[in-house]
Amino acid sequence: MRRFIPTNVDTFLSLIFAVEDSAERYEKELHLLTRDGKPVTVLFIAALTTDRDALDRVACAMIDVTEREQAKEALLAAQVQLARAGRVATVGAVSATIAHEVNQPIGAAVMFAQACIRWLKSETPDIQAAHNAAEKVVQHSMRASQIIQRTREQIKGNQPRPEPVDLKELILEVVGLLEREVASSATRIKSIFAELDHVVLANRVEMQQVVANLVTNAIHAMNETSLERRELKLVTDQVSEETIRLTVRDNGTGIRQDNLAKLFDPFFTTKSEGMGVGLSICKTIVEAHGGSLAARNHPDGGAVFEMILPQAMTSSHEASGIPAV
Ligand code: ADP
Repeated sequence: MRRFIPTNVDTFLSLIFAVEDSAERYEKELHLLTRDGKPVTVLFIAALTTDRDALDRVACAMIDVTEREQAKEALLAAQVQLARAGRVATVGAVSATIAHEVNQPIGAAVMFAQACIRWLKSETPDIQAAHNAAEKVVQHSMRASQIIQRTREQIKGNQPRPEPVDLKELILEVVGLLEREVASSATRIKSIFAELDHVVLANRVEMQQVVANLVTNAIHAMNETSLERRELKLVTDQVSEETIRLTVRDNGTGIRQDNLAKLFDPFFTTKSEGMGVGLSICKTIVEAHGGSLAARNHPDGGAVFEMILPQAMTSSHEASGIPAV
């Protein structure tokens, strides 16, 4: 027995106890040694009998389950690793989101702060202009802080309740926030708002992010476009009884046919400085609002992005307890 049973293992004892307890069957997973001393895990079964006189012979069976056990352990280790990888990926995605989304408002805040200093330092300081610039610094910094706050809430799993948001006002607000990018790229923005109820139930900061990403991408895509064609069209219309659409159309490079399917994949980018997270964030946000986001090329050149959102109908306001606006 010593040859097969590793020392300090209670195997032998437990078998003796089983016999002593008049058990009819003994079954245990055991760690044994093979003839050449290799440790194996076996499922050991002994058919015992309560008739003590018949105990001089018992039928035993042993199944080698070493590989199965090793596979189980490997699976467990793989699961632990996967969970860790998942957490790392989440942290990575969140950092990428924060880095991507916060870059714009922080850049704007720095620029307005520098402008403010210039107004104050000039020979005849322009207090009013400095004051306006300082207000812009506050506005953009608050936006950066809101984006971080919202992302933190999202990680914690706290989804804020959607509120009625007027999409038309929000679009104008975002165009205002992006005034620096719009002006420096000499882009003309043409907004055509249909006569319709633009109120959607949404998270304001998230919707701002979506529109800001679409507008920024369109501006980037028109880098090489001649100045007179550098126009960005923002159009709203009614799609069906309860859904509205925002179409963002540019006169840029358009999207290569083989890239169309990958456009919304996280980390897909064709830009040397790009991170490729903007559109994937947009799609996630829009779909979480019960809407859809799609891209295509315009037959006359340039790209078209279409966001469709359900309208916040008066009845749904009442149902959700949110006052109609
Ligand atoms: P990033 O801007 O960092 O590359 P995005 O997820 O916002 O990340 O965009 C992914 C890719 O989609 C871009 O690299 C570009 O190739 C393409 N794209 C996005 N918007 C447009 C557009 N308006 N026109 C042409 N291509 C676009």
